[in-house]
Amino acid sequence: MIKKKNLVFLGPPGAGKGTLSDPLMKAENLAHISTGDILRAEIKNGTELGKSAKSYMDAGKLVPDEIVAGMVGKRLAADDCKGGFILDGFPRTVPQAELLEKVMAEIGLDLDAVVLFDAPVELLIQRLTSRLTCRSCGASFNLLFCKPQKEGVCDSCGGELYQRSDDSLETAQNRLSVYQEQTAPLIEFYTQKGKLSKIDSSLPKDEGYAALVAVLN
Ligand code: AMP
Repeated sequence: MIKKKNLVFLGPPGAGKGTLSDPLMKAENLAHISTGDILRAEIKNGTELGKSAKSYMDAGKLVPDEIVAGMVGKRLAADDCKGGFILDGFPRTVPQAELLEKVMAEIGLDLDAVVLFDAPVELLIQRLTSRLTCRSCGASFNLLFCKPQKEGVCDSCGGELYQRSDDSLETAQNRLSVYQEQTAPLIEFYTQKGKLSKIDSSLPKDEGYAALVAVLN
């Protein structure tokens, strides 16, 4: 059992935040809150929120802070977050981190740790452009590093695998620039609060997972 359970996973797209969230949430019974997954579900369901988020996501830009923070606030208040949670892909800007502090204080929660997933840019591009995502459960696979057992089919739920439109080379490059400009300042923000730990996320999945568990104890 890990000691730190209220978590933020910080890092560029393709760093493996979603990939390592999956075994950790299952082993520790944590809620997994991926703002990207929530937004994709809103788009799929044709909601107003989904309609306003789509153009930003297609361009690899960030959805406005208030929209995303409101979504996360509601989600964190749910009962399944009481035993711990992983915020995957949120916050992505300093104002979002400040909104998170406010929302958590209102609910009576405290953040235990922020884990920075670190990997070289060339590897991130390679991972993003060869990534396959499950349409049903959101699980990630990779044509180069983590192939599904059966082509085009999710190992976890049997759903159809597809390439996310924002995993094209051009949009992936945009997303990495957006990360550098808008999200990387959070490294300093959380270092100053004494919450930041770093793992080498260029490691293979099993070794990356061991490194993750080690920093959460
Ligand atoms: P992800 O699945 O985390 O790679 O997110 C996919 C896209 O969803 C991002 O490129 C953004 O357009 C949007 N998104 C996800 N999380 C956030 C966030 N915290 N703030 C703003 N936009 C977000």
